[in-house]
Amino acid sequence: MALIEMKTPLVEMDGDEMTRILWQMIREKLILPHVALKSEYYDLSLLNRNDTDDQVTVDAANATKKYGVAVKCATITPNKQRMEEYPQLKKLWPSPNGTIRSILDGTVFRTPILIDAVHPAVRNWKKPITVARHAYGDVYKAVDLHTDEPGECTMTFRGESGRETTLSIQKVDGPAVFQGQHNKEKSIRSFARACFQYALDIKQDLWFSTKDTISKIYDGTFRSIFDEEFEDYRARFDALGLTYFYTLIDDAVARVIRSQGGFIWACKNYDGDVMSDMISTAFGSLAMMTSVLVSPDGCWEYEAAHGTVTKHYYRYLRGEQTSTNPLATIFAWSGALRKRGELDALPELTAFADRLEQASLDTLSAGTMTGDLSALVEPGFSARTVSSAEFLDAVAARL
Ligand code: NAP
Ligand code: MG
Repeated sequence: MALIEMKTPLVEMDGDEMTRILWQMIREKLILPHVALKSEYYDLSLLNRNDTDDQVTVDAANATKKYGVAVKCATITPNKQRMEEYPQLKKLWPSPNGTIRSILDGTVFRTPILIDAVHPAVRNWKKPITVARHAYGDVYKAVDLHTDEPGECTMTFRGESGRETTLSIQKVDGPAVFQGQHNKEKSIRSFARACFQYALDIKQDLWFSTKDTISKIYDGTFRSIFDEEFEDYRARFDALGLTYFYTLIDDAVARVIRSQGGFIWACKNYDGDVMSDMISTAFGSLAMMTSVLVSPDGCWEYEAAHGTVTKHYYRYLRGEQTSTNPLATIFAWSGALRKRGELDALPELTAFADRLEQASLDTLSAGTMTGDLSALVEPGFSARTVSSAEFLDAVAARL
């Protein structure tokens, strides 16, 4: 059988631990037998980031800007404990996802993959809920201060014009903690536009929530920018019968639980971090959550929402077969190949991405699944728990 040709290379970002093992297996068993893969490979494993002083992460992000589509494996964000595990680390390198997000300035869309055998914990959810997470600023770019005596903390903005504004944050009578956060209008505007555009692309309603009753200026600015930007999209929303609506985050949480799903929920950076874990767990498993970063200038970076599955990796290193779920990583590949196919007008590549997803879902429907899912199936559904390799072989056979 002839291999499916590609035009533009895919930016391929390899990663760490168990997901790095899955990455190789997915390439070899599912992609390379069918596609003449053109990729520009970046090794984002912790040790290579260390060897290159993290330049490889910056290069990978810039390559994504150049080519437009990337697929990324999960990577370790080192903490103190990792310093002991990898004594050669020159420093605690920052989160690669954080670095990539700040270069691409995008919005992360996370969508659960639903299967019949596993029902969401929330019984009325029938369709996936996509969380759109703003990927710049707020607490992720905050500065923190701990103080140990009475005093006053102030915040000063010094304009380039020379004008200064100072606010008192708080006078304290003892040890205290403070935090300074920011966001940029430009980034909020592109967050809003990415959400409106994505809603039009997948033809779903868009909800947006913040806490603007308390955070009147900060969150109030998010709200008014969304309102302003929506004017550009209103006619297209109307034409498709779609709605955009804003509500307070507490109201949104209550409505999300009562809903049937099938919409996009736009959240500020921290809210999106937390809510996407809640949504994916309630839909079944973190291993069934896909994630794509969309930048305002039209770059797409696909990945799984979960981490490197460290515990399974240590079992793998001891020579055990692990039953780690590769589905979200497969969908990262299929998402990236489909987008490459769309952008390069390669219908065969797009069709391959569809077949890859269908073969994976059919394998699950036939009851062949990894342990995380077989533990969740509905009573009466007969599931056979297999290793990652066996699961991928079963998908390859269907493909
Ligand atoms: P994790 O890798 O997501 O795994 C946490 C637990 O969730 C696992 O121990 C496993 O539970 C379950 N799990 C996650 N993915 C699974 C899969 N595909 N199949 C089956 N079970 C799965 O999170 P973590 O252990 O907190 O983090 C490990 C490393 O990943 C950290 O170094 C962190 O920095 C990194 N991380 C990277 C990303 C990213 O690159 N996008 C995101 C998050 C975390 P059981 O052990 O119960 O089976
Ligand atoms: Mg999180």
